[in-house]
Amino acid sequence: MRLNLVLIGPPGSGKGTQAVRLAEHYSVPHISTGDILRAAVRAGSELGRQVADTLASGGLVSDALMTDLVQARLASPDVRSGFILDGYPRTVVQAEALEEMLDAPLVVILIQAADEAIVQRLGKRRVCRSCAITQSVSVDTEVQIDPCPYCGGKLVRRQDDDPATVRHRLAMYASFAQPIISYYQARPTFGAVDGLQPATDVTTALRSLIDRLS
Ligand code: AMP
Repeated sequence: MRLNLVLIGPPGSGKGTQAVRLAEHYSVPHISTGDILRAAVRAGSELGRQVADTLASGGLVSDALMTDLVQARLASPDVRSGFILDGYPRTVVQAEALEEMLDAPLVVILIQAADEAIVQRLGKRRVCRSCAITQSVSVDTEVQIDPCPYCGGKLVRRQDDDPATVRHRLAMYASFAQPIISYYQARPTFGAVDGLQPATDVTTALRSLIDRLS
C-alpha cells in the first residue's frame, strides 16, 4: 500500500507522537518540516543560516524555500512507499505546490483538540531536568513538590508550555490551519479524529481512518 499522508493538528494535540507511531506501522518516513529546519539551524548549514531568524521569531519561512525543500525530500528513495508530512503545507500556496508533486492521492487527517483542553494538558506537562523524560503531573502548580518518579530529579515546565505562550501558539496555528483545512475538507480523502482521547485510542482511530481513506 502507498500512503501519502498529511497530518494537521494544533500544538499539544499529540500530532508528533502519532506521526512517529504511524510512520512505524506503515513503514513510511515521518517528514517534519520543523524538525528539518531546526536540524539545519543546529548544523549551521546554508539553509540553517537562511531560516534561523524566521524560526526564532516564530514567523513562516517563504513558500518557495519550503516547497523546494519538501520537493527534494519527497524525491528521496525512502519515500517510495509514501510519507507522513507534518508541518507542511502551512499555506494554500504550499498545498497547491504539493498537489503538483504527487502522482498518488493524498490522505489528509486533522487531529482535533479544543484550545482550553490543550492549555490544560500542556499546563500539566513537565520534563525531568535529570533524565529528560516528559510526563504529566496531576495538579498544575508552579512549585513542583513531587520529584520525577523515574529518577527523583526535579520536574520543570518547558518554557513554551507556559499558558500564555500556549495561547499564542494556538492563535498562530488557527490563523494558518483554517485556510488549509478549508482547502482539503470537501475531499473524500479528508478525515478528522478526536485528539483528546488516550494516545493509544487516537492511534487506533487514525489507523482505521487511514485504512478506510487510502
Ligand atoms: P513546527 O515544528 O512545525 O512548529 O515548525 C517550526 C518552525 O519552522 C515554524 O514556526 C516555522 O518558522 C517553520 N516552518 C515549519 N514548516 C513550515 C512551513 N511549511 N512553512 C513555513 N514555515 C515553516
